[in-house]
Amino acid sequence: MTHDAAVLKAQEIASRVLASSAGQNDKAGRFSTEAVESLGESGLLALMLPVDVGGSGLGPRTMAAVIAMLAEADASVAMVYLMHTLGAATMAAARPGAAQTVSPILREIGTGRHLSTLAFSEAGSRSHFWAPVSRAHRNGNGVRISAKKSWVTSAGHAHSYVVSALAPEGKGPTDSTLYLLPAKTRGLSVAGPWDGMGLRANASSPITLDDCEVPSDFQLTDDGAGFPAMLNVVLPLFNLGTAAVALGICRAAVAGTVSHLKGARFEHLGQSLGESLPTLRAQLAAMQIDTDGLSARIDDLINHLEKPSETTMLRVLETKAAAGDVAISVTSAAMRICGGAAFSKHLNVERLFRDAHAGAVMAPTGDVLREFIGKALLGMPLF
Ligand SMILES: Cc1cc2nc3c(=O)[nH]c(=O)nc-3n(C[C@H](O)[C@H](O)[C@H](O)COP(=O)(O)OP(=O)(O)OC[C@H]3O[C@@H](n4cnc5c(N)ncnc54)[C@H](O)[C@@H]3O)c2cc1C
Repeated sequence: MTHDAAVLKAQEIASRVLASSAGQNDKAGRFSTEAVESLGESGLLALMLPVDVGGSGLGPRTMAAVIAMLAEADASVAMVYLMHTLGAATMAAARPGAAQTVSPILREIGTGRHLSTLAFSEAGSRSHFWAPVSRAHRNGNGVRISAKKSWVTSAGHAHSYVVSALAPEGKGPTDSTLYLLPAKTRGLSVAGPWDGMGLRANASSPITLDDCEVPSDFQLTDDGAGFPAMLNVVLPLFNLGTAAVALGICRAAVAGTVSHLKGARFEHLGQSLGESLPTLRAQLAAMQIDTDGLSARIDDLINHLEKPSETTMLRVLETKAAAGDVAISVTSAAMRICGGAAFSKHLNVERLFRDAHAGAVMAPTGDVLREFIGKALLGMPLF
């Protein structure tokens, strides 16, 4: 699959499967199994995996374009897709000792029949996902893990979970290890419903691990090497992907606002809203400027990821922080411009406004990113 073919497939799924059901799924808080099926059939679930396991071997540029396209129709599905892509990338980067377990799962993803996700955040350390409070305990060659994972996208729908826990002999708070837990692992259960303000259709419920037995070939990183995997494998793609979700939301907000400004009329003046009010046109223009600015920022990050330099990590941090703010600002403007019609939920703008707020609270949160950037500029240690 080429970059263009992948984006076309995403566009086709967005218009055929996502667009018509996003509103209903949001209202009902319903996870779209048909969206995941379509993504699997199209080959998009294996977008970044190596060709020898059935993947397309494509990079962050295509991932971001696919995610933005999906998010324009349904941000919940785009986030499900992003978390899966991160799970798959972590498995693809696993230590050689996990090959016996990981290879067949990667091939299953290659055939589009396996959805994965990340279970990092814990009730105990909240948004500080780099410091799990759960600890793996030795159990023969493997380990046993008990943990309270506070939010897990696709909980109850994923076939596997990439889980963090402190390494058995880990000394410091970031000495974690990553493990792969199949959904059917004894002791793994969804611990509650998901009734979020936004991204309501992505099943981000808590999960509980109750003395789960994890054999050694399900250990994805070396002991204590979970933290570098989080920073090097997950963080750049997660930050890029959440920025792409934000971009899709902003594009949909601009389109929804344009449509309302053209369609809604002051009959007594014989004009549409857009024709009648320069103030609304100016606010719409600001939305467009911010959306294109975010797009340029995402392109800049992709260029950095393709050709890393000493400023790449700074761009990784900046892009997610900026994207969260832009998505909230652009969708807030859309709410204001579309007025009572948006407030009364006659338009999709209200769903976009709610969905836009997730990016900034997903870890690393916007506040944490700004804290890291400030510390980095002052030459202070981040952790
Ligand atoms: C829709 C959704 C899907 C999610 N999916 C997943 C998933 O698939 N996997 C997963 O592992 N997690 C997931 N999460 C969890 C997410 O990544 C965060 O861990 C979670 O949202 C943190 O919420 P909290 O209230 O516990 O944050 P808290 O840590 O309690 O933060 C509260 C406030 O304090 C601020 N804050 C915290 N630390 C600092 C600091 N050092 N400096 C400055 N400000 C700070 C935060 O920005 C926030 O405003 C998801 C969350 C959501 C909302």
